[in-house]
Amino acid sequence: MEVLVAEKCGFCRGVTDAITLAKETLKEKGEVYSLGPIIHNADVVNELAKEGLETVSSIDDIKSATILIRSHGATLEEIQKIKSKGLDITDATCILVKRIQKICQKLNEDGYKVVMLGDREHPEVKAIVGFATDVQVIGGLEDLDTLTGRGKVGILCQTTQSPGFFGKMVGEIVKRGFSELKIINTLCREAIKRQDSAVQLCRKVDVMFVLGGLHSANTIKLAELCKKHNNQTFHLQNWDELDINTVSGKKLAGVTAGASTPDRVINEFVDKLRAI
Ligand code: SF4
Repeated sequence: MEVLVAEKCGFCRGVTDAITLAKETLKEKGEVYSLGPIIHNADVVNELAKEGLETVSSIDDIKSATILIRSHGATLEEIQKIKSKGLDITDATCILVKRIQKICQKLNEDGYKVVMLGDREHPEVKAIVGFATDVQVIGGLEDLDTLTGRGKVGILCQTTQSPGFFGKMVGEIVKRGFSELKIINTLCREAIKRQDSAVQLCRKVDVMFVLGGLHSANTIKLAELCKKHNNQTFHLQNWDELDINTVSGKKLAGVTAGASTPDRVINEFVDKLRAI
């Protein structure tokens, strides 16, 4: 089978840095806990677990040792709790997420109501909204009626959303009569480049595969965008999940991958698909 790979796909800088920091900390300290999975990719989480990185869901599960803040960041409340327990912190929060946390705090100090566009259940969003007291998460058009008031509004967006979503939501908020809108572009360029090259590729192929964690926001976004342009799009974690019937009768396949999908997962998938 002929297989084309998206020009831009796989690990981003934030993920690479977080994994490198985790490995260095494991070598230095031996016992390290990650508050939630370090990234949304089960293959990588399992590999690091073998090296000693234990994933916990609550700070209460840790009595001593070092805690790693994952690439999505941690809430202000969690950071205060870690400090009050006297635990060591290794901070692997992506610098772009840290930037949004700082902007959120500043908007709050300057008297803006903060509107955070994105998925309220995503750890990145949870870690950002804790930096403001007057803050509201808007996940889609259906939430807009809950956005009330007439004062100053500062609008931020989850890093991995698409420019289309950001622009559409801002367009709707403009209509609601706030006295001032401050819009800060907080989208991740790495994620946008992956979206653009995935869309270009999926238009040319008979079948499109998006590889990455099922909870990875940027991978889910890639799959959503590709499905709009090619209904033969499949979101898989790795080769083991391929249903061979999906390629039956097709000649040209496209492959892309989220920012937390390792090269070896992509390479294995592409090699085996080419061999069909
Ligand atoms: S996708 Fe962007 S925001 Fe998310 S970890 Fe990677 S570089 Fe950071």
